[in-house]
Formats: sequence, C-alpha cells, structure tokens
Amino acid sequence: MSELATIAELYTPSVNNEGRYIDSVPVNIQHGIRCPCGSNTVFKSRPSFTTHTTSRRHVEWLERINNDQRNYLAENIRLTEQITQQRRLVVSLSNQLEVVRTELRAEQTRADTIKAELDDTKNKLIQCLMNGPNNYTKGNKHD
Ligand SMILES: [Zn+2]
Repeated sequence: MSELATIAELYTPSVNNEGRYIDSVPVNIQHGIRCPCGSNTVFKSRPSFTTHTTSRRHVEWLERINNDQRNYLAENIRLTEQITQQRRLVVSLSNQLEVVRTELRAEQTRADTIKAELDDTKNKLIQCLMNGPNNYTKGNKHD
C-alpha cells in the first residue's frame, strides 16, 4: 500500500479557454492518483477519482484555486526565485566543500610527514637509549 502511495500520480486540473481551472480526470490511472485538494486517499481507478471530484472538499478547493489564481502566480514566481537562490547556494557550498577537502588533504599530507619524522626521531631515540648515553650522536643539530 505504501508503495502505491509513493508512485501515485499527483492530479492537476486543466485550464479552460477562460483561464479557469476545471476538472479533467485522466483517462488512464495506472498507479493510482492523489489529489492536492487535501484528500489523503490514493484513488485507484478513474470512477473512484471521478466520484471524488464531486465531493464538497474537492469542489471547494477547485473554487478556491480559481479565486486565488493571481496569488498562485505570485507564489510560483516567489518559489521559482527561491529555487534559483537555493541552487546557487548549493553550488557555492559545494565549491566551499571542495576547497575544504583540498585543504584537508594538504593537512593530512603534512600530518603524515610530521608523523613520519616523529617515528624516525623516536626510533633514533630508542636506538640511542639502547646503545647507552655515551653512544648518543648529535646528528640533528637544532641550534
Ligand atoms: Zn480532490
């Protein structure tokens, strides 16, 4: 049942010659159809959806979207702008992420180098301790 809900088509009414939304039930409903009027039902057949379009909730919804058409246009424009901004943000964040990844790789390389030097120094110290203090060679002068 949940699989049916995820693949069900979302119903959209048609627009008539006067620019008003009108119901136009799809001829072929293969995987069920959902209605944006607020109904949670997934209609599995054309007759069941056709019956739904006569329900009070659906009729009132169709009336409401016809009355609010200009608002929907404004909302559409606003959402389109928002999507454009969010796409830019995603690109910007992706670029920043790539910069950080590159810096991280460089830091990892530095850390690996330091670790190798420390291991080398540790091995020299161990060697020195095992050979006794008199055998310490001042190979690395830091002063
Ligand atoms: Zn509906």
